[in-house]
Order: sequence, then structure tokens, then C-alpha cells
Amino acid sequence: MTPLPFPTLADVFAAKTRIAGAAVRTPLVPSTLSDRAGAEILLKLETVQTTGAFKFRGAMNAVAALEPEAAARGVACASTGNHGRAVAEAARRRGIRCVVCLSALVPEEKVRGVRAAGAEVRRVGTSQDEAMEEVDRLAREEGLVPVSPFDDPVVVAGQATAGLEIMEERPDVDTLVVPLSGGGLVGGVALAANAIRPDVRVVGVSMERGAAMAESLSAGRPVAVEEVASLADSLGGGIGLHNRLTFFLCRDLLDEVILVSEEEIYAGMRALLLSDRTVAEGACAVGHAALLAHKLALPAGSVAAVLVTSRNVDPEQVAAVAAGRPVKVGDTLVGGTGEEAAG
Ligand SMILES: *Cc1c(COP(=O)(O)O)cnc(C)c1O
Repeated sequence: MTPLPFPTLADVFAAKTRIAGAAVRTPLVPSTLSDRAGAEILLKLETVQTTGAFKFRGAMNAVAALEPEAAARGVACASTGNHGRAVAEAARRRGIRCVVCLSALVPEEKVRGVRAAGAEVRRVGTSQDEAMEEVDRLAREEGLVPVSPFDDPVVVAGQATAGLEIMEERPDVDTLVVPLSGGGLVGGVALAANAIRPDVRVVGVSMERGAAMAESLSAGRPVAVEEVASLADSLGGGIGLHNRLTFFLCRDLLDEVILVSEEEIYAGMRALLLSDRTVAEGACAVGHAALLAHKLALPAGSVAAVLVTSRNVDPEQVAAVAAGRPVKVGDTLVGGTGEEAAG
């Protein structure tokens, strides 16, 4: 299959202009993990992005770029939660119809967020793939325009603006650490960063359970994985067996992929919460998880930026992690520091 042309730096600057005013230029702040890591670690806080996640960058760029005729038909998307909320908000701002298809794996907190942004919600099936099928049906039968969560050059150019901002502020960054699912974020960030400094190292981090891009890169082609519950629920779902862009972006631009376990993600969430004082979901804790588990080697004195992608976490999960209590993930319990039992 021939991939779509990669977005260019000009596309990224066009996205930056299109989303300005709606999307937040998020802060890049020092992390408390710096001392321990022996490197300067910076956090790109997409937690304060509009809708609480970086996904608004790509969604806003895609919805704002629609021709009036397409916009009038409305948009539809499938989502693990954050993309749906982002598309819903972008559609609300443009005053157009939006239908968001969510599988049963999407946490209630995220469903509430999508509804609050004014979108129609359809709960369908038990996987991201099934939610995607419903989007295809809505496109065929109702003429709605599908907005992909990652596999679209306009969406990727939007996500890339996060990487552009990092490079504008800290052109001396050596390593970018990016949570990886469908690859729209890491692909976009790598595109922007490499266009500015070709030797920047870009690392994607996924959870061990159902890491679709990692398995696809190993196989040399997009493969399906079983979708299972994870603390990093936003990283679930496949990359699409007919992937047209992000598989190729990741294949060509990613320097390394790291996988972390559920226990490691729990430890990452706890460090983000208690040390960096940042409320963030499991999907964003994979960078911290990789650092704490010594899976990510940083040269002494180098500079690394970690993308902290979203604050849209279930409040009860935050309370449990803060207290060191185990968290229910599917049928299993993850984490817990034993402090509670001891106390
Ligand atoms: C979607 C998402 C990611 C991964 O982005 P991809 O473009 O799918 O790789 C990471 N973190 C959060 C919180 C997300 O919602």
C-alpha cells in the first residue's frame, strides 16, 4: 500500500495559525525527576490544553479546515475518549453536528466530557474497531464526515504543533518522550522536531498490553492486537489494518519504542501526582514509568521533554493512586504500596 504524503513543516505552521486562539500554547516546565535521571527533564503540560488533552490540536485543525459544504454535513468520530471530546468541542465552536462513537471500554468520566461538549454519543461494541465500523456506517448512510483520531495528515499536522512549540522554546532538547498509540502525536512531533533539528531523538512509549504500533513495527506491517483494559486506557485500540500514514511516519521517524507494564504505569502516575503535582491519566504516565523503571536511558546532562498528554482521569482513580491503594483494571488489581495495610 502506498502511504499518504507526510505533512510538511509548512503544514504544521498552517495548523498553528488555524488553531491559534482556540488551542492553548501549553507550558514546558521542569520535572522533579531531573535529579534522579541526571538529565534535565521538562514536562510539556497538555493537561492544561482545551478539553484537557493534546487531541484538541489535531481535531481543531481538522474541523477548522473543512470546506463549508462538508462542515454542513457534520462530523463523526470513534474515540477512546479524548479525541471524541476534542472533536465535539471543535464542532461546537464551528456550530456543526457531531456524533461520537465510544466502545464499552471508554471510562464514564470521558463519556461525560464528550456529552458536556454537546456531541451525540453512541455507545457501540467493546472495542475501538467496532466503534470505527459505526463511524463508517454513519459516513455512508448519513453523510457525516469522519475525523480520524490519528491517521490523517491534517490531524497529524495539528498534533505536530506541540512539537513545534517545544523546539521553539528549547531548541537544545535532545530527546522527546511521547506516549504512543495510533502514532498521530509522536509522528507529528517527530516531523516538526526533525524538520528543525534532524538529530533529535524521538522515543515512543506504550503499555505492554495491546501495543498495536509496537507490534506492527516489529511485523513490518499494520497488525491487529487484542484490545484489553489498561491503566493507560487512552492508548488502547489498533492502528488500522489499512493504515495510510502513521505506521509509515513511525517506521521512518521513531528512534525507539519502549513498553511499560501496568505496575510501572501505576508508579509513573504516582510520581506525576505526588512529585510533579500533576493530575494526569495513565496514558501520560508512561514516560515517567519508563524513566523510573530504568527503561529509558538519557545521556548525563542532556535535555529531555516528556509529553504529559491529558488530565482527563477518573477522580476516584486519582484518589486511589494518591493514597497508594490498588486500582481495578479490567479483572485485575494493579499497584498499591502496601502503606494502607501497614497503617
Ligand atoms: C490519543 C492519546 C495518546 C496517543 O496519541 P496517538 O496519536 O494515538 O499516538 C496519548 N495520550 C493520550 C492521553 C491520548 O488521548
